[in-house]
Amino acid sequence: MKVLVVNCGSSSLKYQLIDMADESVMAKGLVERIGIEGSILTHESAGKEKKVIEEPMKDHKKALELVLDAVVNKEYGAVESMNEIEAVGHRVVHAGEKFSDSVVINNDVIAALEECIELAPLHNPPNLIGIRACMELMPGVPMVGVFDTAFHQSMPASSYIYALPYEYYEKYGVRKYGFHGTSHKYVAQRTASILGKDLDSLKIITCHLGNGASITAIDNGKSVDTSMGFTPLEGLVMGTRSGDLDPAIITFIMEKENLSIDEMNNLLNKKSGVLGISGISSDFRDIESAAKEGNERAQLALDKFNVRVKKYIAACAAVMGGVDAVVFTAGLGENSISAREIICSGFEYMGMELDKEKNNVRGKETVVSKDSSKVEILVIPTNEELMIARDTLELLK
Ligand code: ADP
Repeated sequence: MKVLVVNCGSSSLKYQLIDMADESVMAKGLVERIGIEGSILTHESAGKEKKVIEEPMKDHKKALELVLDAVVNKEYGAVESMNEIEAVGHRVVHAGEKFSDSVVINNDVIAALEECIELAPLHNPPNLIGIRACMELMPGVPMVGVFDTAFHQSMPASSYIYALPYEYYEKYGVRKYGFHGTSHKYVAQRTASILGKDLDSLKIITCHLGNGASITAIDNGKSVDTSMGFTPLEGLVMGTRSGDLDPAIITFIMEKENLSIDEMNNLLNKKSGVLGISGISSDFRDIESAAKEGNERAQLALDKFNVRVKKYIAACAAVMGGVDAVVFTAGLGENSISAREIICSGFEYMGMELDKEKNNVRGKETVVSKDSSKVEILVIPTNEELMIARDTLELLK
């Protein structure tokens, strides 16, 4: 089966066409600036040259039309005809408490996801637009929804409830949902397979450290706690998000600076994190090099980021009563040798011993702990697209 994986953002669309016979990527690409001037599609089929198409794309449907044209193009495409695409897997950010696993999309599912728009006003609408556009352009092709929140639905109430009046949970669904679920689940499965152990016998801490970052405690294959919360703002220090704060700071700053709700939201999501502390960049590469050159605020941003990660690793171990494996994934987790070294240092008391030589690796599945380490430490590149395609295949079999 050939599965098209679609990930729609507000003005972007990422896709991969995966041949499930051998899980190879036949084509992939990215559309940017949908609905704004300068729309651009960058497409690449396996073994062929990259193709850049610049053409006005007023909406996601137009963008998808051009993607499908590119996928079947004689010169730079990957398949002969649209009929070869047998299913579509959609990444959807928020499924609230409605779905704890991926589902085949029908009208009821769409209605349920529409009800979740309030919980993810920036993400769910473009996801739904992508689903509808595919339905129109590929009538009769089955579609599957894979949700960022689904994997975390196994968390116990003591993990997901906030210490607020209970009525807000009942009235508005204010609780921890957690995100990056597809990534955490994928790397946990890979961990079990690399270690040759049953996922159901392991306590794993997965650290998804990218521009957005979250940590999950996975006990017996199930998420039991995670750092992101009601929204992706909670938890770790991120590229531009604050992560955990004393909530009183929010009203204090709003009052002092005379900020509106939107302005405060923007400050917490777009102007904080390592960008906010360093004043330099949200990109860890820029901050690491500035810190090396002696920039103190860049160093402070890194120190704050690392110490928060350490605290969450320890917290996850506490929640599970131990840990067998700690896994690093996503942009920073996969590539920053120094971040992994700093984060793992001082955890020897917990049986975590990083092997500095093995840790000298970027973007490759590797066990980076010493042979003597009681806790395995791994680097595993995440692959959310493959996970979405696997779920799609599984559900349609
Ligand atoms: P997202 O998908 O959340 O946008 P990614 O998983 O792509 O994020 O991660 C992006 C982050 O990873 C960036 O902040 C980038 O600086 C960081 N990153 C990528 N490569 C490296 C590297 N070699 N060293 C340090 N940080 C890196």
